Formats: sequence, C-alpha cells, structure tokens
Amino acid sequence: MQNNFRAAGNCGGALNTILNDNEHKEGINVIDKREVQTMLIADDRDGCLRLKNIFGGEFATFETNGGDEFFTLMTAHKVDIALVNMKLPRGREFMLRLKSDDHFLEIPVLALVNTTEEGARALDNGASDFLIRPFNEVIARHRVYNALDKFSADRRLAKAKLVQQSLAAPDSDELDHLTGLCNREAFYKKSAALMHSDVERKYFIVYFDISCFKAINDLFHIETGNLILRTAANYFKRQIDPTVGICGRMEADHFVVCVPQDRINIGSLLEGLDGVIRDLDISHNILFYAGVYPVNNIELPVDQMCDRANMALKKIKGNYMNRYAYYDDGMREVMLQDQMIVRDMEAALRENQFAIFLQPVYNVKTDNIDSAEALIRWFHPINGMISPGKFIPVFERNGFIVKTDRFVWESVCRFIKEQREQTGQVIPISVNVSRLNFYNLDLLEFLLGLLEKYDLESWMLKLEITESAYTDNQHQLMSIIRAFREEGFPVLMDDFGSGYSSLNMLKNLPVDVLKVDMAFVRELEESERAYMILKFIMMLARELGMDVIVEGVETKKQLDYLVSLGADKIQGYYFSRPLPIPDFKQLLEAKRLEHERL
Ligand code: C2E
Ligand code: CA
Ligand code: CA
Repeated sequence: MQNNFRAAGNCGGALNTILNDNEHKEGINVIDKREVQTMLIADDRDGCLRLKNIFGGEFATFETNGGDEFFTLMTAHKVDIALVNMKLPRGREFMLRLKSDDHFLEIPVLALVNTTEEGARALDNGASDFLIRPFNEVIARHRVYNALDKFSADRRLAKAKLVQQSLAAPDSDELDHLTGLCNREAFYKKSAALMHSDVERKYFIVYFDISCFKAINDLFHIETGNLILRTAANYFKRQIDPTVGICGRMEADHFVVCVPQDRINIGSLLEGLDGVIRDLDISHNILFYAGVYPVNNIELPVDQMCDRANMALKKIKGNYMNRYAYYDDGMREVMLQDQMIVRDMEAALRENQFAIFLQPVYNVKTDNIDSAEALIRWFHPINGMISPGKFIPVFERNGFIVKTDRFVWESVCRFIKEQREQTGQVIPISVNVSRLNFYNLDLLEFLLGLLEKYDLESWMLKLEITESAYTDNQHQLMSIIRAFREEGFPVLMDDFGSGYSSLNMLKNLPVDVLKVDMAFVRELEESERAYMILKFIMMLARELGMDVIVEGVETKKQLDYLVSLGADKIQGYYFSRPLPIPDFKQLLEAKRLEHERL
C-alpha cells in the first residue's frame, strides 16, 4: 500500500507552527479563544483535502486514508476530535476502538457519510454526530464545535459528579461502625472517584498497621484495642483534610488513606500517631507502620493499589528503624514469584523437580573432606533452577518445608547408603531441619525410621538447626535437641551469631557444632570487630568442648585469617561450591586417590 498518510505540512510536532496563515479564515475568531486543538481526519483523498481546507486554519490536522496509522496516530497524539469515514478499510474497527478503548472515550467522533440514513447508523454505532457530503462549511463548523463543546461540558459534569461522589459524607452503610471512617468498599469507591476527579494530581495510597495488635487484644481487654483504633481513626480524621483525601479502615488494625502526594508527610504523620497513642498510657509499646503506593496509574483498581501499599508495609513491619516504605515493582515481582512457587510446589515434589546438592566441609588440618551439607535445589521445568533463598522462606511460611525437608533427609540417607555400598566408606552429611518440623510429634520417629530403612547409624546424619529457632520456643527446642543427641545424632547450630540470643543460648543448648554465620567471614578483612568476635567464638567453643565450622569462606586471605584463629573446618566456595551428587562423588574419589598417593 502506498503511503496513505500525509503528514500534511502542518502536522509536525510543534503545534504553534501549524497555523497556516493563508488558510486561516478571516472573521472566524475561534483561535484566540481556544488552545489549538488536534483533529484527526480519516477519509478518502478528496474528503481529507476538503476538510483540511475547512479546518486547517483552526486545528492541527492529521490526515489518513485508512490503515494502521489510524491507531498509531490516535495513540501518539493527543487528539481532540476525529472525523471518520467508516467505509475506509479499517473505518469500522477504528470506530469501535474509539468507543471501547478507555484512552479514546473522551474524544468526540463525527462520522463522514453520504446520506442521512448512513448518518443515523453511525449515531447508533456511537458517533457523536455526522457530516454529510458534500461538506457544507458552515454546517461542518457548527457541528464540530458543538461536539467539542458538548464533550467538554460532559467532561466537566462528569468530573464534578466524581468530586461530589468522592467527597460526599459516606452513607451510614458505607461507614465502619467502630471508627466512623469509610469501610473497605466505600474507601475503594470514593478513592477511585477522587483520583479520577483530578487526573493531573498525584496521589498516595498509604496502608497502616500496628506492630502487635493481636498481642494487645490478648493482653488487655478488647475495649483497649477498640480505644486504640478509635484514637487512631480520630487522628486520621483530623490530619487528612476531607476536602482532598479519604480515610478508611480495612479490617482489624488496618487503616488506609488516599491523599494527594503534596498534602502528606508520612514520617510526621506516623510520629503524630505515635504521640496520640502514647497519650493513652497503655503499658505496651504500640507502633504504627505504613506502606506507601505512589499511584501512577489511576485505572488500577483501588483494592490492588491497597495490596501494593500493603506489600511495601510487610517489608518493614516490626523494623524499629524504618517505619514506612514505598512500593516498587520489584515487590510485585517477588509476590508473583511467591505465587508461582506456591502454585507449583506440590507438582514439583511429585514430579521429582527437587534435588540435593552437596557442599563439602574441609578439614584444613587433615586436608580431607570431613563431611558435607545437603542443600536443596529446584529445577523448575519453565523457570530453570530456583535458588532455595527464594522458595525456602515461602515454604517456611506455608508449612511445605516439612515435606521438602523430609525429602532431603531421605535423599541423603539413600546417598550415604549407596556410597557405602560402592566405596565401603561413609561420609557424614548434615541436613537442615527447619524449625517447623519441631511441631511434628513424629519427627524423631521419622528420622529413626530412615536410619532403619537405609541401615544407617545416627552419627552419619547430622542435623542443622538455625539459631533463630531458639527464640520460638526455647524449652521445646531444648528437649528436642536433647532427644536428638540421646539417639546419637550430631546437632549443629546453624548461622551462629546472626540472631540476638547467641551467648545466652550457648549456656542452655547442648549442641555439638557451631556453624559460624557467613556475615562474620564477609567482614573479616575490613572489620577488626568481626575478627575479635570470631576469635572469641573460637575460644568459647573450645572451652565448651564444641566443634566449629566456618561457612562462606571464599578467598585465600579469609582462609589464612581463620586458620590463624585456629579454625580447621571450613565450608565455602574457596574449596567447593555445592555440587550435584555425581560431581561430589568424583571429588571424594579424587581426594581419596590424592591421599593414597601420599
Ligand atoms: P545455609 O543452611 O546457611 O546454607 C549455606 C548457604 O550458603 C548455601 O546457600 C550455600 O550454597 C551458601 N554458601 C556456601 N559457601 C558459600 C560461600 O563461600 N559464599 C557464599 N556467598 N555462599 C556460600 P543455598 O544453597 O542457596 O541455601 C540457602 C539457604 O537455604 C540455606 O542456608 C538454608 O537456610 C536454606 N536451605 C537450603 N537447603 C535447605 C533444605 O533442604 N532445608 C531447609 N530447611 N533449608 C534449606
Ligand atoms: Ca545449613
Ligand atoms: Ca548457615
């Protein structure tokens, strides 16, 4: 098709260069009253010429004889009015799009027709009006300007209605009974209306939550909880000007506001909120947190905006330093990824997508492999290998970790057995035992069952428990660890030094090995303190008769430091990354041969 769009001399970028003096119709004084508006003319060649002749002086005109540029033009330029011949190749489609696509709804479309009947049909199809050929200049002008006026009046009216809707006091069934703020549905409705009433203005959706509301309800009378909620609600009512913003309560202790970005300072709002709650003199530290979604697309349903603000909130809830956080698209990706993980996890276990990798622990004194740690990997059929850092936290939240941990333990037992059969040697392997397993009464029974099934002894399977498990339920943990050790399972305290209660814990917890948290090693070279703490840990372990494994050793320099501190068991990329089973077997074999040669 030949180039059927003519960027007629007057339709370059800058609109103020468009007015063509010799085409300017003297005596029709419209230009000084209006800003130059843009007109799209879609017609055959003659029609375009004629209409451009009539309107070219007052409008920036874009002309097309049909084809894809219809759509390109409409989206690339802010078109104020379109004159369309529906008989053009894609005229009807164009007309339908204009009437269905949100972007175009506000544009008046005049059909270019040959007869009144055609015109009537066009009106049925959603045209604002029509122009009959041959085009009469006076009538054409009249109808075009009428259509524009009507549209802007409609728009004004719609806008006024939206403002009215959004700012009208909520009906009683729109109110949250406890606090008098908007309830969830009313908040969604009014916020959407508010944002649409002034599309140029930038809004925030801010989601608020109290750090420990459940505890307050448990510790105090329910009335105390209600008092806090009402106090917070009253504070929001005072702070958020009702002529520009909306406040609502979603449920429980979740509040939400929709306000123009230039009318809120979230930091000071939170400070003020803390103040009024502190004045209630409740002997409990009550802190509000906020997640902020800066609205960049007002077409997004408000419930989704709230979800995004809430996502930002979850990032920082419980963090004393950061009391509010902004949403960014990365959070949405994490959420989508988490959803994928939950959706696919059962199938993954059924279809054998999980595998174990083994990372050796080196004994630098004997220059041999002391043991290894089993680390799970997920080979997803579509997304490739997913790292445990992504799916383990999700499994820990939804409980699926109990199943995958058991899968790992069994794979490890099978491996140890095979290895013994093939080489006559046993290499002990440590497995991670997520704290969720402690809630299963048959945990020990399950482990002992595995030993029996694969004809193994308990010293071959080491159990790694993360330090943070200690804070959950100390007595329960202590008795479980005792039971493990009574059965002969070596117990390792994983990530030692990463939590809060390390030293206190050592006093009570009878573990065999401390696995020093990687963070110390990472800081070893820069921080004298990290060095001193490590030195102290090594000394303490020695005194208490515990072994130490240092994890995360990546460089020779780190290794040298650690050796100088007396560390002998090292796990880290410097020696080996976690390996697939066949590679790990090869490594063991190579080490064996090396020692044979010596
Ligand atoms: P973790 O138990 O502390 O395991 C050590 C992690 O450090 C592993 O990450 C390992 O690949 C990594 N690592 C080892 N040496 C180095 C090093 O030199 N430099 C660096 N930067 N990293 C090193 P991975 O395999 O990604 O596992 C991450 C975490 O996921 C594990 O931390 C553990 O908490 C969890 N996890 C892995 N497998 C399992 C499992 O089967 N069950 C449970 N409950 N958790 C598991
Ligand atoms: Ca571990
Ligand atoms: Ca660790």
